Amino acid sequence: MTRIEELPVRDELRGKSPYGAPQLDVAVRLNTNENPYPLPEALVARIAERVTEAARELNRYPDRDATELRAGLAAYLTRTAGHRVGPEGVWAANGSNEILQQLLQAFGGPGRTALGFEPSYSMHALIARGTGTGWLSGPRREDFTIDVDAAVAVIAEQRPHVIFVCSPNNPTGTAVAARTVVALHEAAQAARPDSGALVVVDEAYGEFSHHPSLLPLIEGRPNLVLSRTMSKAFGAAGLRLGYLAADPAVVDAVQLVRLPYHLSAVTQATALAALEHTDTLLGYVEQLKAERDRIVAELRATGLEVTESDANFVQFGRFEGPAATSTLPLTAHEMWQALLDRGVLVRDNGVPGRLRVTAGTPAENDAFLDAVRAVTKENN
Ligand code: PMP
Repeated sequence: MTRIEELPVRDELRGKSPYGAPQLDVAVRLNTNENPYPLPEALVARIAERVTEAARELNRYPDRDATELRAGLAAYLTRTAGHRVGPEGVWAANGSNEILQQLLQAFGGPGRTALGFEPSYSMHALIARGTGTGWLSGPRREDFTIDVDAAVAVIAEQRPHVIFVCSPNNPTGTAVAARTVVALHEAAQAARPDSGALVVVDEAYGEFSHHPSLLPLIEGRPNLVLSRTMSKAFGAAGLRLGYLAADPAVVDAVQLVRLPYHLSAVTQATALAALEHTDTLLGYVEQLKAERDRIVAELRATGLEVTESDANFVQFGRFEGPAATSTLPLTAHEMWQALLDRGVLVRDNGVPGRLRVTAGTPAENDAFLDAVRAVTKENN
């Protein structure tokens, strides 16, 4: 068997592992921040109708500019995110991962750097690597919020070309205040007075936040981009549909690197059907937000330390580890295994002494909370 190392792969890919959460066959899967609710039957039927229509023209390439879909997404943002955007300021791709990749292809690349505040979504660094962009790791406070002064100092010193601000942040659930984003954006432009720097606000979990969207910040800031997805709030992770909102010039820039006809006619038809059912899907989001708040409260009641969450998941601990004062005589990995032994799969993201659980259905969350209480009792 040939090993990767024997192939002429790029040096920076040697010895690396691909992104991947375990896809295990477990009764209660709360490890990948999916929406637990299947799409409603009326929407499934509408998808079938729309896809049937699209299938009649599959001999042709799809609409390269996804005109109707971008108009639908722009209308959705205008209605729900507190700022009017037009279709020319919206761009769509196969998941927000592809949006982020296109942004780094256009604004990062060899000889350039991207900065993120870690722990954060690990794909930011991996997409940077895949696009030949250098990666810079910025700090967070003990409570996982971004310390503006420390962040501004890193930006002034490192002068990144791209900055990722994940809000709410994965895996911690932490929302970033609008004034913090404004300060980072200002510092980024000041550090590169010649060319400016791109600030990417990754709002994959925006709909679950207690706070309004950061979308209005794009006004008057052509170097600020908001990234969103239908994977979480729209319950459509399998669809692969992400999008951005920004100054139309950013959309022109990503068109320079996107593959022609990147978004299939089937994807566009399905996403348009999902948009028709926005209100039902946002109803599920409200239920998930209430469940998320319940998980936070009930985990705290067991004596665990729980990070404030604005997402559809909750970070909890502390377990034994290098930087952790444990509340239980278990490492994060031992706790992960103990929950798995009870049929509940959560995520060990490698944050010292912490685990992350996705909000599921009330029954799944009960199963998770019961398992936590059982393990806690056994180890006290
Ligand atoms: N951003 C963040 C912060 C995420 O957590 C995820 C998915 N886990 C994504 C982007 C990518 O999601 P998708 O490609 O499904 O839109």
